[in-house]
Amino acid sequence: MSPVVRMIGVCKHFGKGEALVRAVDSLDFEVSEGEAVMVTGPSGCGKSTLLQLMGGLDLPTAGEVWVGGRRIDRTSERARARLRREHVGFVFQDFHLMDELTALENVELPALLAGTSTGRARRRASALLEEMGLADRGHHRPAQLSGGQKQRVAIARAVVNRPTVLLADEPTGNLDSVATTEVLRLFDTLRANGQTLVVVTHDQRTAATAERIVSLRDGAIVEDHILAPSTVNAADLLSGEALT
Ligand code: ADP
Ligand code: MG
Repeated sequence: MSPVVRMIGVCKHFGKGEALVRAVDSLDFEVSEGEAVMVTGPSGCGKSTLLQLMGGLDLPTAGEVWVGGRRIDRTSERARARLRREHVGFVFQDFHLMDELTALENVELPALLAGTSTGRARRRASALLEEMGLADRGHHRPAQLSGGQKQRVAIARAVVNRPTVLLADEPTGNLDSVATTEVLRLFDTLRANGQTLVVVTHDQRTAATAERIVSLRDGAIVEDHILAPSTVNAADLLSGEALT
């Protein structure tokens, strides 16, 4: 089975000469189908750059990037936009919701853009909001939601087109511990349903819930640990329930 994400000798360098920054440097990386990977490392080590390359939001200066069996670093912006719409779900630290749309409209928008009929998009968005525990928040706008609720809407939106891979950049970075636990529980559920996901975090607590942890330093992978399958639910571990 070919990996869902494959990066071969990938570099992303910014600037020149004395100002050259090797944000990602000769990096090889693969993610298998159904895998949940946490990418961790200090600020500035290249986590966000790596995720943007993986999702076709940015192009490498060298190397190959493959997603779902397609090479994406040599394709047009238009083809990459389509790939992102249909195969990649993004979750950001600051949610990136559309303020003027309701929660339901935010979630259904990518489905409509991908050509899903209005009826189907609405049903799928409603079902997802319900799964995210937000059935009664569908008609609220982002400003009327808490941070944790906004991030759950953003996660519903990210998976509405059933992406090949879900990419999240510091998804709990703006959340308190209760909302963090909720979001991690959702990732657990998605993973249990077979969703491949790559989550970037500098938070050790969040990273500790993964089954595979990749550590980055200066744009390179310095550790890649696959952990034994845990019988402890990640969210319970965080909330302390597993310890009682
Ligand atoms: P992280 O997400 O781990 O904090 P980033 O991927 O954002 O790290 O950044 C990695 C390095 O690349 C940093 O040194 C950062 O300053 C640099 N960098 C990121 N984006 C750009 C850019 N557009 N232009 C110049 N340097 C950049
Ligand atoms: Mg970052």
